[in-house]
Order: sequence, then C-alpha cells, then structure tokens
Amino acid sequence: MSHPSDQPTPAPTAADAAPGPRLASAPDRELRARRTAELFQDAWGYAPDGVWSAPGRVNLIGEHVDYQDGLCLPMALEHRTYVAAARTPTDRVRLRSAQAEGVVELSAKDLEPGTVAGWPAYVAGVLWALRGHLSGGEPWGLDLVVDGQVPLGAGLSSSAALECAVAAALEDLFTLGTEPVERIRAAIRAENDFVGAATGGLDQSAAVLGRRGHALLLDCRDFSVEPVPWDLAAQGLALLITDTRAEHSLVGGEYAERRRQSEQAAEALGVGTLRDVDPAGLPGALEAIADETVRRRARHIITEIERVRRVGALLEAGSVRGQLDQIAALMDASHDSLRDDYEVTVPALDSAVDAARAAGAHGARMTGGGFGGSTIALVEHDRAEAVAEEIARAAETRGLPAPHFFLALPGDGAGRDL
Ligand code: ADP
Ligand code: MG
Repeated sequence: MSHPSDQPTPAPTAADAAPGPRLASAPDRELRARRTAELFQDAWGYAPDGVWSAPGRVNLIGEHVDYQDGLCLPMALEHRTYVAAARTPTDRVRLRSAQAEGVVELSAKDLEPGTVAGWPAYVAGVLWALRGHLSGGEPWGLDLVVDGQVPLGAGLSSSAALECAVAAALEDLFTLGTEPVERIRAAIRAENDFVGAATGGLDQSAAVLGRRGHALLLDCRDFSVEPVPWDLAAQGLALLITDTRAEHSLVGGEYAERRRQSEQAAEALGVGTLRDVDPAGLPGALEAIADETVRRRARHIITEIERVRRVGALLEAGSVRGQLDQIAALMDASHDSLRDDYEVTVPALDSAVDAARAAGAHGARMTGGGFGGSTIALVEHDRAEAVAEEIARAAETRGLPAPHFFLALPGDGAGRDL
C-alpha cells in the first residue's frame, strides 16, 4: 500500500492564478463531472460506472448550538466534491484523489477504525459505516477517483462533501436501499468513529439534503430539515465567503472545553439541553449559573438558537430583500456573541467581519467552529468585488494572510451526475 500525504494540496482556484481578490465561483457541474470521469479513465484504464457528487456547505447562522440540540441554518454550496466510481468483482478498494498524491489500496474485508490514516479514512469510513446494508456479505470491490472543488480545511466542509458523495455512489452501485437520513448518519459515524474527528451532523445534513435556491432550517434534535427560500441571485444579492486562511490554533482543546461548559450550564439550569431554556426569561434565568464564563457561554447558545428561529421565520414569511435590515442585524449579533460571549473568534475573523461591515455589507459573521476558517457577508451582488477588496486590504494592513474569496449560491445536495 502506498502512503499518500495526509495533507492534500487544495485544488487550484481562480484565486491562485492572480494577485488581489478574485471571486471564485463554482465551475460548471457537468463539465467538472466529465473531467472526473476522465481522471478515472486515466487512473484505471477504463470508464467509470458513474460519477456522483456532494456539496460543501456554509452555515448562515446558528453556530456552536448543534451539541445543545439547537437550530442552525446551513446552505449547500455549488462547490462540490466529485467521485467517479466503478464496481469490481474483488474485495479490493483502489482510491485516488486529484487533491492528494499516490494510489491507495485497501482490503474491503478488514476495515476497522484505526486501520486507515489520512484522507482515505474519510472514504473507508463510509464503506465501514454502510457495510451492514450490503446484501449477502458481498465484498465492496471498488475503483474510485475523487476530485474536489470545496477548499480543504477552510471550514466549508470538504470532509462531509467527500463522505456524502461516496455514500451516494455506494447506494447506486451496490443497490443498498438506504434512505437519505441513513446516509447522513453513516457519514457522521464515518467521521466521528472511523476518522476520529468530532462532528455534529450539520455538515452531512447539508451535503445530502441541500436544495438549490434554499437554506435549510435544521433541527439538531432529530436532524429534521425544513428548506426555506434563500434565493439571493434573483434579488441582486450575494453571499461573499472569505476563507481567512488563518492558522487553526488550539481547535481540539477549545472545542472540547466549550462543549463541557455548555453541559455545565445545562446542569446548573436543570435542563437536558440549553434548547429547553426559554430565551424570554433571560437574563434572570442565567443567575442560577455561578461561574461568569459558563454564564456567558450559555447566553450565547440560548440567544443564538433564538436568532436562528427569527431568521427562519423571516425567510418563511418573505423575501431576503424585503427584510434585509432585520436579517443583517441578527447576523451581526451572532458574530458579536461568538466574539464576546463564546470567545471563538480570532483577529483574522474579526478583521474580515469588521471590514465587510465598514464596506457596506448587510450583515457579516464568522461561520463554522471558529479559531480560523471562514466568514460570510451578505452583500449587493454588484458590490461583492469592492467588499472583497476592503477585506483583503484590512488583512494586509494587519499583517494577516491574504484571504481567498468565493461567491456562494445555494446548491443541491448529493446526487448522481453521470
Ligand atoms: P473541512 O471539512 O472544513 O474542509 P476537515 O479537516 O474537516 O476540513 O476535512 C478536510 C480533510 O478531508 C482533508 O484534510 C482530507 O483528509 C479530506 N478531504 C476532503 N476533500 C478531499 C479531496 N478532494 N481529496 C482528498 N481528501 C479530501
Ligand atoms: Mg470537515
């Protein structure tokens, strides 16, 4: 077995080609799927049985609430991860990725957590999690080529895109008969238990259930999803994603600490999860929490769930354009709460958000877990370039890494392309 690098190189984007801010938008889906089929042909010398893909995602609001049964509002991106695959009469799985070196060969019979390292674990984990659905103990004989356009490690969930594209391919190739929610749960198990990276399920739900022109009101209590209209393009608006490219620091330990503090808060308040606290009773209810830091952590989660509820209700009731000020204020309040109460922002995130607001964005916030990663800003479509320029200038002035930019339109969930 060869040993591919653990750190695949990101796919080159338009942003790499020239200096200054460039707004990378997603290349044409059919073209990209055909290209992935060609990569398969080059790699294995025959044509694939098909090509499947699944999108990255960005969370519009509802951060650090999934582990307290909260609500969040992700949308799937048009940027997708493509998987060309063919079934083979063996028990071998052969893998390649356009974003990683080398060829990987695995024995499909012996997949157990801890046996596969690096990026192939995201694929092997899905095989492992779905193997109970194989009829009659058939082997997973499979050749596979991955080509991703979701930037890796930017907080846009390239990991769930990869898992969910693989799950879609397996469903069709092996006629597994799984429901979408079973594929979501398998992808979550793959990442939590096989790869060993903590994930709450938001990413996989968006990657499977995304819908063009919509955001998804996701209830993390049962992973039920309600699509709400988020058709920015039709209203002359755009969502500017800024990948700050800031070094992720202390992520594991800080994430675990926040989760622990949120559990302490729920215990002090005598509730199962903070979802059960009525925001109308704040701030008085929080006085039951003795520790000042834990009290602020709880205030973030309880008020953030309420902000998601409000944005969801606004989007159900009318257009984004018609309610811009209210949506913007809720996005801004979300960021400020994550900065001041939850303390998961870093200078690069605050800088991008401050610069976007100063440049006239209708609301801006960090998105994802924090400590690096990406921000979003709701902007007039014809102002996107100018806002990006201001964000880039602010980063340069502060000696921060040069950000990468994307224009995000809500795309479809996992599916078959060819
Ligand atoms: P994010 O999901 O925010 O992009 P993660 O650290 O959760 O960041 O997942 C990134 C990892 O997923 C990569 O380091 C790699 O192991 C794997 N991965 C995602 N997309 C690809 C791809 N196209 N090719 C190879 N590995 C990939
Ligand atoms: Mg991820």
